[in-house]
Amino acid sequence: MARRVRRAAAPLRPSGPPPGKPGSYPSFLEGVPFDPNDVDRVCQTEAGGHAYRGITFPLEEAERTYLQVLVNVDAELAILDGFTRTLVLYLAAVVVAAAAASYLLSRRTLKPIVQNWKAQTEFVQNASHELRTPLAVVQATGELLLDHPESRIVDRFEDVNVITEETKRLARLVDSLMELSLDDAGRAQPNRQPVEVDGLVRDVAALYEDFVALQGKQVRFEPGFGGTVPADADRLRQLLAIVLDNAVKYTAAGDEIVVTTGAQGQKCFLTVVDTGCGIDPEDRERVFERFFRADKARSRATGGHGLGLSLAQSIVQAHGGTICLVANEPRGTVVTITLPR
Ligand code: ADP
Repeated sequence: MARRVRRAAAPLRPSGPPPGKPGSYPSFLEGVPFDPNDVDRVCQTEAGGHAYRGITFPLEEAERTYLQVLVNVDAELAILDGFTRTLVLYLAAVVVAAAAASYLLSRRTLKPIVQNWKAQTEFVQNASHELRTPLAVVQATGELLLDHPESRIVDRFEDVNVITEETKRLARLVDSLMELSLDDAGRAQPNRQPVEVDGLVRDVAALYEDFVALQGKQVRFEPGFGGTVPADADRLRQLLAIVLDNAVKYTAAGDEIVVTTGAQGQKCFLTVVDTGCGIDPEDRERVFERFFRADKARSRATGGHGLGLSLAQSIVQAHGGTICLVANEPRGTVVTITLPR
């Protein structure tokens, strides 16, 4: 059946004869499908290696005559293709970047938690170890005493003394652990009142004088501050006692301990200088770690658990101050504490 199709390609990229000339459309449009039943509907088709969007209308003035309007959409499809490819590429890049960022962020967020977890585990291990030793001594000595029920206390004085000493050691350890756990749990802010530093240091140092003299050592106080700091007096006493205990523990007969106070700008400083054994430079960095003891044998013999300076640091920090240890020349240690005035 004969049919006439007028094709109007707009815009027609490849040049050809003007549209509207029945049957004279260019050869590259030959392959464009034509279906007289598929009219009045926009559809996409391909012919001669080009893509078209078109619509076919039946012409009313002539029977079996159709007008087919075609638009070359090569450029649009190329743009769409490029856009899709870019979108997929960017999407993939964004997914990879988001995955990497979330991995790094989660690692960063988890780091302190993991560190805390490790520190807690280490703390429990160290605490158990420290508790086990005196407990084992108390148990063994107690069993030894039970083996001799007929003995009098005076005959077993040394054993009884061992039990008493180890029990005191345990009590000190439990006290320190309690203090530290209170600090960790965010103990209430120190109850700050104006504290006359020189008077407080003089009182605490005086407690050591006789005891230190018995060991052939000397403790001296050189006041230089003369003012007050807002602080919890009990905790300051505890702080000074920790540092002085250490100075006494790590000095020998003939050594000297000098406590000085002074002011520097808006800060009050307090130093405890001793001429004792000193600390190796590599150990000095770690003395504030819980249960760290530079010289384990000596420290245990002097009753230390390696918690004193951790506690001292948390007291100082609660007051907004600092504490540091440096070497004294020619020997010994200088502990410097600063507190805001
Ligand atoms: P300890 O109860 O064992 O003394 P600390 O936390 O108070 O624990 O001190 C940690 C370690 O620092 C000690 O074991 C000791 O080796 C070292 N140290 C602290 N103070 C002094 C000091 N004045 N001289 C020498 N070593 C010190």
